[in-house]
Amino acid sequence: MKFCSDCGSVIEKRIPDGDNLERDCCTKCDSIFYSNPRVIVGTVPIKNNKVLLCKRAIQPRYGLWTLPAGFLENGETIEEGAFRETKEETNTEVKMGNLYAIFNIPQINQVYMLHLAEVINEDYCSTSESLEVKFFSESEIPWDDLAFPFVPTTLKNYFIDSKKGEYPLSTQIIERPPRKSS
Ligand SMILES: [Zn+2]
Repeated sequence: MKFCSDCGSVIEKRIPDGDNLERDCCTKCDSIFYSNPRVIVGTVPIKNNKVLLCKRAIQPRYGLWTLPAGFLENGETIEEGAFRETKEETNTEVKMGNLYAIFNIPQINQVYMLHLAEVINEDYCSTSESLEVKFFSESEIPWDDLAFPFVPTTLKNYFIDSKKGEYPLSTQIIERPPRKSS
């Protein structure tokens, strides 16, 4: 940011007293603007051991398949956010299950949190965010056309776990090139 949202004065980057990282600090008033990682919430929507995937109708990764997920909004629990994102991208209201996967992506300052979910209605369909919404068995997954690194990792884990009938929470780190500075 360039200007203080409290008083409109110029922002400078400096380490505030008692802190150890550079922050956006107002040069006039005492405002300090912190930038912290963002949380992405989503689901692994399942029915009869098939996974409901969405073909993205939006950038980035337009036309590739993904699990329903998006940014957690203020005032939401991660479970509420995951339910909402799944509804927005698949049109269906799932039955939420346990937290299943956490991905740390420190290079782009993101944390993904995915819940298992059961698809209980037949009303899933394309939406403004999805060109197509479709169930895939393990052998049908379009491995070469998946949108983000967390998707194949989660799907591989899921099909391994489904053979054991146990779905423990996993936490992983995804290495990604840093986003171009804007
Ligand atoms: Zn200010």
